[in-house]
Amino acid sequence: MNDRNDLYSIRMRASFRKRHVSGSERIITQDRIDATVRDLVVRARDRANEPDRIIVSVDPLDASSLRYLTSLDVITLKTSDLCSGREYAARVLKLAGVSEQAVASAMEQINTGASPSGANMRGAMIMDAVTGERLERDHERGIRSSRFDWTDDAFQSAMQQLGGMGLTHHRTAEALALATKVAYAPGMVAELCWSDEPDYTAGYVASLTTGYVRFPFLKQQGDAHGGRAFFVDHGNLDLTALIRYLETEAILINAVGICSPAMDALAFLDRILSCLNRNSYN
Ligand code: AMP
Repeated sequence: MNDRNDLYSIRMRASFRKRHVSGSERIITQDRIDATVRDLVVRARDRANEPDRIIVSVDPLDASSLRYLTSLDVITLKTSDLCSGREYAARVLKLAGVSEQAVASAMEQINTGASPSGANMRGAMIMDAVTGERLERDHERGIRSSRFDWTDDAFQSAMQQLGGMGLTHHRTAEALALATKVAYAPGMVAELCWSDEPDYTAGYVASLTTGYVRFPFLKQQGDAHGGRAFFVDHGNLDLTALIRYLETEAILINAVGICSPAMDALAFLDRILSCLNRNSYN
């Protein structure tokens, strides 16, 4: 795919009674448009909440503006339930530079539906990493990170490596691609996510400092609330540039970061802390 010029961005979003149900992103060559559109429609309908509206957009991409990235390193932290999952997620976020206040606010809002109507948002909250203030203009919709995908080779390699960690769901590879794009955004500090799919309890914290840190439980089984918070350095932020990067700049992931076996949460925190200390002495 890499040396082709006929690249297209395919975006799907599905809703039920005007409420967001799911969305998906691909970057593909022209010959795969039909199959990909079909695949995304099938995917949209294969949800606990079947949508009554599915919109698929197909847009040409300027291949010369593509940026290539290596995916974030991936690790799962061994936590046994929602409580310890959220506690350690908060501690990882703190190491990445997010205040306790901002973490508590993000968790509370994702927990109860972060849009003013109490529903899940279509996109993410943009939050001041210190105060927790929400900076996105439209709190109902949020900001969607768009136009990212894996190259074919990197996707195969990612599925193999994630599969070796027991992570065979396509959702993990998609979330890792999204989190990688987001982590490299200008002004980004860290991301927190858990899914709105009722049966999918896992979630993650991601940042350039910590990599993609996965938690098996960030919510209760059966809970249909989920969402994303993008924590940013408000003091040095160019919000327009950040949103332009997230929504329009095309990113292909062409190499896979290190995928490590599941690890004790405290040992992981120690490891990150000693890395941070080492870097501050150098
Ligand atoms: P999902 O991981 O697909 O279950 O999505 C969980 C939540 O993350 C959704 O309810 C949205 O609020 C948010 N979200 C999903 N996709 C994106 C995206 N591409 N950019 C920003 N936020 C998203």
